[in-house]
Amino acid sequence: MTSDTLHRPLRDLRISVTDRCNFRCTYCMPEEIFSRDYQFLGRELLLTFEEIERLVRLSLSLGVRKVRLTGGEPLLRRDLEQLVASVKAVGDLELTMTTNGALLARKAQVLKQAGLDRISVSLDSLDDTVFRAMNDVDFPVAKVLEGINVAHEVGLGPVKVNAVVKRGVNEHTVVEMARYFKDTGHIIRFIEFMDVGSSNGWRLDDVVPAADIVTMIDAEMALEPLDPNYPGEVARRYRYQDGGGEIGIIASVTQPFCGDCTRARVSADGALYTCLFASRGFDLRTLLRSGATDQEIVETLAAIWGARDDRYSEIRSSETAGLPKVEMSYIGG
Ligand code: SAM
Ligand code: SF4
Ligand code: SF4
Repeated sequence: MTSDTLHRPLRDLRISVTDRCNFRCTYCMPEEIFSRDYQFLGRELLLTFEEIERLVRLSLSLGVRKVRLTGGEPLLRRDLEQLVASVKAVGDLELTMTTNGALLARKAQVLKQAGLDRISVSLDSLDDTVFRAMNDVDFPVAKVLEGINVAHEVGLGPVKVNAVVKRGVNEHTVVEMARYFKDTGHIIRFIEFMDVGSSNGWRLDDVVPAADIVTMIDAEMALEPLDPNYPGEVARRYRYQDGGGEIGIIASVTQPFCGDCTRARVSADGALYTCLFASRGFDLRTLLRSGATDQEIVETLAAIWGARDDRYSEIRSSETAGLPKVEMSYIGG
């Protein structure tokens, strides 16, 4: 077991399997920057499935128990189910994925068969006009809802539905979303718009504080707080007093949770980041391709985690605001 300088163990590994995406969500990959000419990573720069599997296997020995595949859009990576199968076979771990859901209706069954345990689907509004504008590729809500339903049917539930809330953009659709997913067994989680990366034009004024989101929903459908499922759970949980299920709130801006942060992230090209807001990662790909032994890689991972002191969200201030930060589509959120 390895812990960082703030005594936080390494428990979760989030692996971005591609930096490409079929959406251009305005808060993540704004079209002005991620345009037709944008140079995405070439195939040879991406970690191979074998390299990812090896990394997961070695990180298990350091205490990792949860692995999340993300991106960019993970379902754009060809033969992803093969990666799911090989990662799941590595050992005792929970394997999940975060997707925009566009290709999920088609892929849910094979992913489940390959060994995926659960899925999170991003969906920012049920209002088709609002959603099409937020994904900025005119993608309809109905297809994402179909993906969520198929994922539920094949046993990838409870599906977590993640909605980023942005002031003046979709905050007026929050209550409608909560109502839609109430009593379905799916868990809707509202996420404060974060200052990740440097291309999404983030301003504090655009953040709808978690407390306001809870108040809006509670006014229509009474809520009560629930204990976390486990220490370090990112979402604060609430349940409907009438037994209609639960919701989550991810308040990374107004109520940061760095003290419990047990997550490491690997970008699509194999750089290890110990914080979502880091400006630099450690190049694992070169190490993996240099003939390093398992022992050497484990020692490197342990040394990087052991030196970790990140707590960006807790110290977010004018000092950190201008620092260069890695883009979310590159390390996957
Ligand atoms: N493409 C997949 C998806 O959208 O689910 C996986 C990658 S995406 C980067 C992972 C998550 O990050 C999504 O739920 C997305 O809404 C969230 N995200 C991206 N930019 C964000 C921001 N600026 N603030 C809060 N969440 C953000
Ligand atoms: Fe793509 Fe996900 Fe970013 Fe939207 S949030 S642009 S779907 S990577
Ligand atoms: Fe973890 Fe960094 Fe987010 Fe804090 S800011 S919770 S350390 S990823």
